[in-house]
Amino acid sequence: MAASIRIFPHRRAIVDAVTENLAIEVRGLRKAYGATVAVDGLDLAVPRGEVFALLGPNGAGKTTTVEILEGFRRPDGGEVRVLGTNPRDATAEWRSRVGIVLQSTGEFEELTVAEVVHHFARYYPNAADPDKVIDRVGLTDKRDSRAERLSGGQKRRLDVALGIIGQPELLFLDEPTTGFDPEARREFWELIRGLAAAGTTILLTTHYLDEAEALADRVGVIAKGRMVALSTPAELGDRRNAMATVHWQGPNGPESERTHTPTATVAALAERFGGEVPALTVSRPTLEDVYLTMIGKEEAA
Ligand code: ATP
Repeated sequence: MAASIRIFPHRRAIVDAVTENLAIEVRGLRKAYGATVAVDGLDLAVPRGEVFALLGPNGAGKTTTVEILEGFRRPDGGEVRVLGTNPRDATAEWRSRVGIVLQSTGEFEELTVAEVVHHFARYYPNAADPDKVIDRVGLTDKRDSRAERLSGGQKRRLDVALGIIGQPELLFLDEPTTGFDPEARREFWELIRGLAAAGTTILLTTHYLDEAEALADRVGVIAKGRMVALSTPAELGDRRNAMATVHWQGPNGPESERTHTPTATVAALAERFGGEVPALTVSRPTLEDVYLTMIGKEEAA
């Protein structure tokens, strides 16, 4: 008994330290809409400063999960803490520390970009300079355009500007680059990398596997309301150790070989060709390949 009294405060301190280091903690989360179970016992822990991507097919439960974390939906069961608080008990102070970019907002159509961003800045105790935020999302040329005149991609940039104007500690991005052209996506990725480098925790949902790979420290795959895989993008589905495919141009056309030892294959080819191997490439499954295999298995189960 005496020993446990001595140990207890120490263990408690460790538990508190781990918990304080987490921006998001979810245990056993459940949510059903009538007979449809959207979230089915989900666990998730996102440390502060991490960029975490939530992947999963349509209807897997991503938006429901994120909306519970944002305090917009009540779970049926489980424990949720976001920045140390249950979102159900959210205060204005907590809200000011959380940034949210929803799938589409589309309000304030009559106002200009500058008016909307300046207007939102007033809601936050620690708002960023609105003109700098407009510049950061690449809308300086459009600052005097009415929101209703913006293209789809430009509207998303405005949504992102409103999500970051309060300089949030934690930013939720729900499919942020849908409708962006390739250049706008790259620019957006740079913006996210800048926010992450400044210490912002980011939870992102996306259907773009290259986006998850480009941005996320870790990815979680949700299927049928459960987390079915959780790892770094490079390690998802044991991708790093998956078989490689060596392609080259043979005397009669393209040839390839699947192998666990691509270096040995390439060495043998180099010897056979007496030097440079024509059109040589070595590839491993992409994140998309392993993701689709994983989802296919879950849906068949
Ligand atoms: P997507 O990639 O298509 O956005 P998602 O992973 O975000 O999908 P959710 O929107 O969380 O999935 O939906 C999970 C399940 O819950 C789906 O079967 C969906 O039809 C159902 N659902 C979601 N919202 C509601 C609602 N308000 N009422 C009834 N059912 C809902």
